[in-house]
Amino acid sequence: MVYQRTIAKEVKVTGIGLHSGKKVTMKLIPQDSDFGIQFLRVDLPQSRPMQANALTVGTTENATTLGSGLEAIHTVEHLLGTLYGLGINNVLIEIDGPEVPIMDGSGASFVFLLKETGIKNLNKSKKFLVILDTVRVEKDGKWAQFEPHSNLAIESTIVFAHPIIKTQKFNFEFSCESFIQDIARARTFGFARDVDMLKRKGLIKGGSLDNAIVLDDYKVLNPEGLRFNNEFVRHKILDTIGDVSLLGFEIAGKITTYKSGHNLHNLLCRKLLETPSAYEIVAASSLKAEAREAHKLPQFISVSH
Ligand SMILES: [Zn+2]
Repeated sequence: MVYQRTIAKEVKVTGIGLHSGKKVTMKLIPQDSDFGIQFLRVDLPQSRPMQANALTVGTTENATTLGSGLEAIHTVEHLLGTLYGLGINNVLIEIDGPEVPIMDGSGASFVFLLKETGIKNLNKSKKFLVILDTVRVEKDGKWAQFEPHSNLAIESTIVFAHPIIKTQKFNFEFSCESFIQDIARARTFGFARDVDMLKRKGLIKGGSLDNAIVLDDYKVLNPEGLRFNNEFVRHKILDTIGDVSLLGFEIAGKITTYKSGHNLHNLLCRKLLETPSAYEIVAASSLKAEAREAHKLPQFISVSH
């Protein structure tokens, strides 16, 4: 049986928002099965919990935003990607500001936090969204698609006219362990030449070399360099996992992306949901053994029951 998971106890984390530059404190609170992932803006007295769901996504410029207007919550993708990576399905995220803290620009700090907190198996099976047919979206020469596969796999290609990035392609076969090793640590990135333009748009006010890879026209400006030589495409996979986790289920299917971003990932999820013949929701027990195996947590994460 692959059980639904929550966290073993409540945990708090403080950091700054990448785009807002504001300090935020976030509290993760354990929940029972079938609760899902919900956010609550505790700084707004009238605010109600908001389910993390592909259909609640508002803007997708530079980050994925849930909801809209004053109650929106920005930059949810790295936290959601990490929760998916560790198979955590049920948690309430209380947050006292408009943006999830950026931490080091990757999912690594959240992995560390969740590892310290511990994970709890709930007494109910996970459900999986199984892709039955190809669903594809295309926009301006960029595309993304779902197709049938026994486990979650993501093959991403990114193309940048930059000598350090160029074209990078990575084929990731999901398991909790490989997520932690190969994907979670990959940081977001940006270009020094865009900084003024983004700041004029009110973005990346909290951006620094501590929470993003920054490149000038020739090289990486971070003194510590890269964590992987293809860290950029690995980060694209972290973003993709966070964005498709908004379908609300573990996924058995292959996602292929070419020059994709948050907008295309959300369009892909919406198109899938509009195509009921292209997927089914099944209990974990009806999946192939390898797909169930992939959701085992590595030994260094403590799991309670
Ligand atoms: Zn990202």
